[in-house]
Amino acid sequence: MSFTLIIGPMKSGKSLELIGSTTPYKYANKKTLFVQPKINTRDKKVSSRAGVMAESTAVSSLHEIEAQFDVIGVDEIHMFSIEDATIVEAWILQGKKVFISGLDIDYRGQMFPIIQRLLELKPDVVIFKKAICDLCGRHSAYFSQITQNSKPVLSDLPSIIPEDGTYEYQARCRNCYQKYHQ
Ligand SMILES: [Zn+2]
Repeated sequence: MSFTLIIGPMKSGKSLELIGSTTPYKYANKKTLFVQPKINTRDKKVSSRAGVMAESTAVSSLHEIEAQFDVIGVDEIHMFSIEDATIVEAWILQGKKVFISGLDIDYRGQMFPIIQRLLELKPDVVIFKKAICDLCGRHSAYFSQITQNSKPVLSDLPSIIPEDGTYEYQARCRNCYQKYHQ
């Protein structure tokens, strides 16, 4: 058994890392399953901006997964509910190889509750991905900024951001990121 958590901002190669991590098991004929949230309208496959993709099952909750598998890759975990972490824990205890990727920090600079819960499960490996800042183009980016008409939106967005072009997603470095202050 093992649990690998791949977290980081937009455009940091999380999905690519997820697919790459599970590929050796696929070659070894292990039953490998990719899962992504149904709510994610961007694609029907787990895909990376780098162009790599894998066939996936779309579910609203990890409780819906009935297929047998040895290895599982879950993408966009931040779109799942905190209760789904109990399923992840069960998989680990059953001896599955579990790979999970997603955003760690939301647009307000706060950790997604499901990510906190998964960290409490003590992953064997945590891979912190980083992007390059979309604004300055110089520094490593750890944060995801959502902008509308080039201005950062700092509050009052729905928990699932519509992907209809209303908002733009940017990876930003510590200097360029604008944080929501309560
Ligand atoms: Zn920057």
